[in-house]
Amino acid sequence: MTSKTRAPGSYIKKLIKRGLQKTAARFGRHTRHAKKPELLLLMYHRILPADDPRSQLEEPGMMVTPETFHMHMTLVKSMFETTHLSRWLEKKDKGETLPDRCCAITFDDGWADNYEFAFPVLQQLDIPATIFLVSDMVGRQQPFWPERLAKTLAVIASQHAAQWSHASLDWLKTCAGSYTFNRSVPTSEQLSEIITGVKSLSDDEINQRLDEIEQQLDLNMTVDKASLLNWQQLKTMSDTGLIEAGSHTCHHIRLTEEKPAAVLQDEIINSKIVIENKTGAAVKTFCFPNGDYSDAALSLVKQHYSGSVTTRRGWNTLTSDHYLLQRIGVHEDISNDRTSFLSCISGWL
Ligand SMILES: [Zn+2]
Repeated sequence: MTSKTRAPGSYIKKLIKRGLQKTAARFGRHTRHAKKPELLLLMYHRILPADDPRSQLEEPGMMVTPETFHMHMTLVKSMFETTHLSRWLEKKDKGETLPDRCCAITFDDGWADNYEFAFPVLQQLDIPATIFLVSDMVGRQQPFWPERLAKTLAVIASQHAAQWSHASLDWLKTCAGSYTFNRSVPTSEQLSEIITGVKSLSDDEINQRLDEIEQQLDLNMTVDKASLLNWQQLKTMSDTGLIEAGSHTCHHIRLTEEKPAAVLQDEIINSKIVIENKTGAAVKTFCFPNGDYSDAALSLVKQHYSGSVTTRRGWNTLTSDHYLLQRIGVHEDISNDRTSFLSCISGWL
């Protein structure tokens, strides 16, 4: 059989084999004496059980279950030296010896489920982690706009189906992608599509338009369970020394070119001050919302933090820029068994 006539299945098998070999190469005995110390930064958002109602309003790319998270952490603990990101940067700055392979866990946004489901696992396995907080959102019931959007669509589908043609929803329909309203909520894939489409608007604009829909359609947006961490939960975690807080701005706005200097000052500097005052611990690291940053934002972060992370995918080495650190985002669909998690962190998935 020539390569042209080979069945697609065998090509896929070959790809999988190649991926697993790559994984083995990175984690096998061949790399025991790596030339450069490396840092793997894992990026998580939410840790939610599959039957938790909060998971119904979330994009699949944002979650792993507590069971999957436990499996990840057990593997991480067996393969890496775990560290706080800030500690790795400090050692690197001082020229101290770093282990060949370190892993630092990060969580973005400050979700309440991090306290409920991730913190017990981290405590059990004694793994440090950094939670990047949106200072103005801590303790609020109001979720971020993607979750508001998901909730809005769910409430309309279940209680206000007749109002789907209301003018306040016109802008949303242009971003709806393959979702055609038929009294059902969008699938998780359709939801991701809608969220991507909506991102062409600014965060303020999206929130204003969602306000308008809620008011005009008189939607009941009550949430049963808190979405976001409160200060007490943070203080409890921070006091153990295991969890460090980083800043993810005050309002989770994307720090793009058009943002005025006063806004950058507020989002980058004030967020740090607020978190430090509430937790009593230094905030040393920063996370750019959506991975976006302007030159001015980057320059301000450099003046006030010892490092910052992006959403760029990859590992870090001694030569990596402290302020453009790369991470590997992990979510349930691509990492719910040992092999897929290893493939994921090796960069193959
Ligand atoms: Zn975020």
